[in-house]
Amino acid sequence: MKRIYLDHNATTPVDPEVLDAMLPYFKELYGNPSSIHIFGQEAKRGMEHSREQIASLINADTSEIVFTSGGTESDNLAIKGTLSSGHARGKHIITVNTEHHAILNQANYLEQQGYKITFLPVDKHGIISLKQLKESITEETAIISVMLANNETGTLQPITEIGEIINNICAGSKSSRKIFFHTDAVQAAGKIPIDVKKLNVDLLSLSAHKIYGPKGIGILYVRKGTKIHPIIHGGHHERNRRAGTENIPGIIGMGKAAELAVKNLISENRQLRKLRNKLWNELSKHIPYIYLNGPELKPESASSVEEKRLPNTINISFEYIEGESILLNLDLIGIAVSTGSACTSGSLEPSHVLSAMEIGPVRSQGSLRFSLGKDNTEQEIDYVINELPGIISKLRIMSPLFEQYKQNKKE
Ligand SMILES: *Cc1c(COP(=O)(O)O)cnc(C)c1O
Repeated sequence: MKRIYLDHNATTPVDPEVLDAMLPYFKELYGNPSSIHIFGQEAKRGMEHSREQIASLINADTSEIVFTSGGTESDNLAIKGTLSSGHARGKHIITVNTEHHAILNQANYLEQQGYKITFLPVDKHGIISLKQLKESITEETAIISVMLANNETGTLQPITEIGEIINNICAGSKSSRKIFFHTDAVQAAGKIPIDVKKLNVDLLSLSAHKIYGPKGIGILYVRKGTKIHPIIHGGHHERNRRAGTENIPGIIGMGKAAELAVKNLISENRQLRKLRNKLWNELSKHIPYIYLNGPELKPESASSVEEKRLPNTINISFEYIEGESILLNLDLIGIAVSTGSACTSGSLEPSHVLSAMEIGPVRSQGSLRFSLGKDNTEQEIDYVINELPGIISKLRIMSPLFEQYKQNKKE
């Protein structure tokens, strides 16, 4: 049976070049980078090379890259690390309803600890209102965290503009304490260009396993002059920002993955948009009652900067049936997709992202996320286009919701 992987926003396969770069660091290059001898120095050299590769991906300086255990830890270090630094204004945090659970559940926890949280709403495309953001900032606001690209829908937030608003407010303020600005760029990396200077952010999270690197390694970009406290205490690693012996094979893998992402970004972006658009155009031609969730798709010929979404992600609602049933039927023929976020799959709770976009329960329950990757071929997409309409009509025949809908239409 064919196996077609269309769930790259959950995780990506490790690129063979990445694995090759890592292997020596499991074998002969096993030193601890804190050691003075040659074993330690080799490991350290590899680690510093990786820092350069990652810094190039986001236009940062190597001193601004802090290695962590992944996107979740980076998101935690960004928020908890700035709150405890003593340099943030007060006890107010602003974030968005559609963030990843690494941010949302952290915010819920901090709320229990006495912080005040503003969860900004989004419009039907999943985008926040800059006016609302501006109005929610107070003298107490310590940190604002808004993701660059959403993992479920691919929606992009206006990060540069948010950064400008924050800079203007801080420039006009007498207080020496700061409003920190963090973005979770885990899904954006490798898919769209990222430039920390243009984005006006202080802190930015990345994870290797979403860019064809290994799991369990990520970075937090910490802009020069931005003071954070560690959340894991121990040795003086990572300039006192994250203790613990570094995950050298992981670090080497992430560096290589970042290098490949820089090299292939433009061509992959175009290829992904081409396949994504074909998938949507054909499915919407052959299947009735389906809806695209998130911002509109631009043709492949349009510049990628015109799009307010990622090139690889489409979230589609198939009305009157459940996304879970479609997912299981696709799985039976070897096609891997997802419903909602990876965390909520297995339960029938509607996705918090689609709910925040005020997509009603019927459309939300019937939603599927297709997230394409660099190795998907046009033949694979054609296979999905051929198979899916049959699955949908079979499921609709069995669906009481669809029966009811047809009855109502007749009356
Ligand atoms: C996957 C993901 C994370 C978590 O990263 P891990 O490395 O798996 O901890 C955080 N934010 C977003 C948007 C993600 O997609």
